[in-house]
Amino acid sequence: MTALTIAGLRKNYGSVAAVDGIDLEIPKGCVFGLLGPNGAGKSTTFKCVLGLIRASAGRVLFAGAPFSPAALERTAYVPERSVLYDWMSVREHIGYMKNSFTGFDPERARELLAQFGVGDESKRVRALSKGMRTAVAVALAFARRVDLLLLDEPTSGLDPVNQRSVLNLIINEAAQGTTVVFSSHQIGQVERAADRIAVMQRGRIVLEGIVDDLKAGRKIVEGILPSDDFSVNGLASDARIVRLERNGRILRAFVTEQPDDVAAHMSALGAQGLRVVDLSLEDIFLDAVAPKVTTASVVEEA
Ligand code: ATP
Repeated sequence: MTALTIAGLRKNYGSVAAVDGIDLEIPKGCVFGLLGPNGAGKSTTFKCVLGLIRASAGRVLFAGAPFSPAALERTAYVPERSVLYDWMSVREHIGYMKNSFTGFDPERARELLAQFGVGDESKRVRALSKGMRTAVAVALAFARRVDLLLLDEPTSGLDPVNQRSVLNLIINEAAQGTTVVFSSHQIGQVERAADRIAVMQRGRIVLEGIVDDLKAGRKIVEGILPSDDFSVNGLASDARIVRLERNGRILRAFVTEQPDDVAAHMSALGAQGLRVVDLSLEDIFLDAVAPKVTTASVVEEA
């Protein structure tokens, strides 16, 4: 069942298309990772989905219908920048949330705050560190009973232990049927938590799919060249190689088929220490957002 449908969504700021016609179908109970370089349009997408800013075009449906007040009551959003009130204490925020949302559970909020190491409820938000503010915003969102969680960089500024806690919360929520859409620049975290991803670039979706499917059917053959200026032109005609990356003496070939044969080919050309490895989500991301390269052209990495 589809939880969230985004169709032809567009948002222009003057001549800038922050979101340039995106389509997404996000299944119920899925953890959906939204990736993209700075300025790709991720935050704008979140805001358009919730109607916080008016889209220039397109439709957003939740469970097949436009967002109703009841659906919004069942949706939690953690924006990229804190929406907490500086002058209010953590305790006052808990009270405020309790008054604002019927599904808010103050005990659950306290439990999560303690887990994140924010035990002192009397503290005003202005006295909290950046990471603690993020932790409070996340704890308040997760203390609501919702069907949809939209989290814009929810681990930003958190220490590794709290980052791990947020990921576990995301995974647990989804296991109970909540649909979670989150953005992050931490690709390893997205790889750990997300079932599906979309990569945005300049307002468009450049890659989308189930993480395991995106990894399937491609391998990387890695090898070490005898010298920095060693020519790999001999690989130019190897149609099995869809992309070559070279970083000094290290050569990485992205291959779609017969990785062992490609390794043999690279070995015959003089490469050593050859090994075939799986693609990581980071490889997939970089492949999607890097300038498109033609077969066997060489990308010199910095
Ligand atoms: P980041 O990863 O850096 O947070 P993002 O993918 O969330 O980036 P957005 O914040 O959605 O990107 O921005 C997308 C584009 O829209 C950028 O070019 C940005 O400068 C532009 N933009 C965003 N908000 C506004 C605004 N209020 N007015 C004008 N331009 C805006």
